[in-house]
Amino acid sequence: MRLSQYFMPVLRDDPKEAEIVSHRLMLRAGMIRQEAAGSYSWLPTGFRVLKKIEQIVREEQDRAGAIEVLMPTLQSADLWRKSGRYDDYGKEMLRIKDRQDRDMLFGPTNEEMITDIFRSGIQSYKDVPRNLYHIQWKFRDEVRPRFGVMRGREFLMKDAYSFDLTAEAGQHSYNKMFVAYLRTFARLGLKAVPMRADTGPIGGDSSHEFLILAETGESGVFFDRDFHDMDWSAFDIDYDDVAAVEKVVTTFTSKYSATDEKHDAVEFDSRVPKDKQLSGRGIEVGHIFFFGDKYSKPLGCEVQGADGKKVTLQSGSYGIGVSRLVGGIIEASHDKDGIIWPEAVAPFHVGLINIKVGDAEADATSDKIYKALQGKGVDVLYDDRNQPGGAKFAAMDLIGLPWQIIIGPRGLKEGIAEVKNRKTGARENVALDQIVGRFTK
Ligand code: ATP
Ligand code: MG
Repeated sequence: MRLSQYFMPVLRDDPKEAEIVSHRLMLRAGMIRQEAAGSYSWLPTGFRVLKKIEQIVREEQDRAGAIEVLMPTLQSADLWRKSGRYDDYGKEMLRIKDRQDRDMLFGPTNEEMITDIFRSGIQSYKDVPRNLYHIQWKFRDEVRPRFGVMRGREFLMKDAYSFDLTAEAGQHSYNKMFVAYLRTFARLGLKAVPMRADTGPIGGDSSHEFLILAETGESGVFFDRDFHDMDWSAFDIDYDDVAAVEKVVTTFTSKYSATDEKHDAVEFDSRVPKDKQLSGRGIEVGHIFFFGDKYSKPLGCEVQGADGKKVTLQSGSYGIGVSRLVGGIIEASHDKDGIIWPEAVAPFHVGLINIKVGDAEADATSDKIYKALQGKGVDVLYDDRNQPGGAKFAAMDLIGLPWQIIIGPRGLKEGIAEVKNRKTGARENVALDQIVGRFTK
């Protein structure tokens, strides 16, 4: 993409309304624009990042055996009356009437709808276990929308729902999602610590939240320092191997970790030596629940078991805040100059800067490298605007692409360009005829 033909409205000054760094940087880098309290348009670079995160989330759900569907944002109130949540959900639910005066709502979550979909599509015990998920916009009329996309009112969530014959089988479905979450966050370049959590209005027995550590997080967190030494890499796992999956879950739940809602100071002291007790703040990026027949019972989601008797299904639900993750990753990865994107989610892989637009040789060489990179399928943002070098460097650092290629007359005389790593700041001179190869290995 040529920056001269792109749409990336970068702000020179800090926007006053932004209280935290991710919100400030997303506005400054021209990634989003606020349309109403807690509601944002995703501008081109922001949208690219959102889509990349969404795709990684999708791949890891698919790998764990979940099946993608898409449910509408607007729901009828009927099913919510059956589960009792139409009244329970309170003011966070955006209620709408259609022209026939029917009660509708903008979905804050989808337990009722998916349970009804599944109920109507199955017959026998052979149709379970299944896990269905979608990645769809939700609306929650939050009391205090703030921090940009971190606490929006309209936000993108991945929500999966498992259906099993027995609570024991349901636990395996829960464990699979637990491991899928570890893999997902690792691929996003994050350490998201699983913590025991309250089940909240969704209710149920077993629940973990996944939190990334950041000073601006809204939750207090308490955990064992040993978490820092665990293997967070995206380990391989056979999801059908019940014991292997359980073992990973056990490893990550054997150490103390809890959000302030569940924290128990006495237990913390007894399980974690003083010098290993860490506390701080965290951002909730995922939340998994096992809640048994909470929804399948009122909604009649049952199958005929092997013995011919009716069995009410056992379920869990599993959420990831896809749009919140954009802000969360920035909170975890930035410096004074701007964003530092992990390679997996960067809007472009490399930024190409021509510092002397108008100089025939600089233009020709930059154009040639740009086309060659594009031809090899490298995502490249080419700053071909006629602007001072300083402004271009600042903009490129701000938007945080992992690599920069800097082309100017001085280097050209020696047949080289400068390659800069945004994260480490390391600069290296690379021969012009080696540049493309560097990014296509
Ligand atoms: P919170 O405690 O932050 O209000 P929640 O517990 O109400 O979140 P869940 O129902 O667990 O949210 O939703 C699943 C995931 O969706 C959360 O882990 C979070 O990442 C994301 N999410 C929830 N509310 C918002 C919001 N207002 N804006 C952006 N993402 C959100
Ligand atoms: Mg939650």
